[in-house]
Amino acid sequence: MAAGRLLGLRPAPGRLHRCVGGLPATVRPTFPTGRAKFCRYSIRSIPPLGGVGRRVPRAAQAAMGGDLYALDFDGVICDSCGESSLSAVKAAKVRWPWLFQQVDAAMEEWIVEQMYTLRPVVETGYENLLLVRLLVEIQIPSVRKSSVADGLSIQEILENWLKLKPTVMDEWQEDRESLVDLFGRVRDDWIENDLSGWIGANRFYPGTADALKLSSSEVYIVTTKQSRFAEALLKELAGIDFPSERIYGLGTGPKVKVLQQLQKMPQHQGRTLHFVEDRFATLNNVIKEPALDNWNLYLVTWGYNTQKEREEAAAVARIQLIDLPDFSKQLK
Ligand SMILES: [Mg+2]
Repeated sequence: MAAGRLLGLRPAPGRLHRCVGGLPATVRPTFPTGRAKFCRYSIRSIPPLGGVGRRVPRAAQAAMGGDLYALDFDGVICDSCGESSLSAVKAAKVRWPWLFQQVDAAMEEWIVEQMYTLRPVVETGYENLLLVRLLVEIQIPSVRKSSVADGLSIQEILENWLKLKPTVMDEWQEDRESLVDLFGRVRDDWIENDLSGWIGANRFYPGTADALKLSSSEVYIVTTKQSRFAEALLKELAGIDFPSERIYGLGTGPKVKVLQQLQKMPQHQGRTLHFVEDRFATLNNVIKEPALDNWNLYLVTWGYNTQKEREEAAAVARIQLIDLPDFSKQLK
């Protein structure tokens, strides 16, 4: 099956059909999936002049023109907050089973609800696990192992996560790599055992799938998600067989480095560069890098950021706020 092949999972005949059949009409694939059909999509690519590594003549650069979009995935293309929160609860139960002995269904529901509010602070998926544990520690004093949980409010987590994160990781003696690995494994298990349930916990923001399909620009996905998950969602939720070499996922380096890589590619010379993000801090990192001065930067108004961050971004000359209808229009 397509999803299984993408994710390196066991084939599960009939699964994709059931899953796609259950999706709302707006996200149903409009044509058969499969790599052979990719030519029918309109993520059109101008072939590199002279091949990789050869310098593109200036006149040819001017003639090429066109736009290049580097798009974040979660919070720009895909609303994965429900999925990532549920995956985090599943993973936290594996990692700290004793922590959940006193967590009942009502508290679990409360945790998932708070995760929606806290989503803007999450840069990489594994942080969801830390937030889940912190929320449990706030609620249940007897399981508390961090010095910060007592009396901590959701607002304080939102405002101070960058300081709280290293503190709790240290106090819980956790390391990033094993949490990243666990989070990935829990997702893989969920996908393998309940593909339609996993896909159903995600949704594409209205219009983004069509905008991707119809885009006449060079489009790349630059995400902190593991590439295989982004690729699977593009395929299964939107019917887009997005080329894997155009997805820069977790492990391909910081976004500022990926943007530098993209702008250096000979086939991208002369293009107008656009980077679309929902995380204000990531855009600020781009601004700090003089080599990225040519990128147009956009903070989306529909993703995982706060009103306060949008107001701050509006005051930064380099950043444009963009709403969903304008984004779809611009990408097409
Ligand atoms: Mg994002």
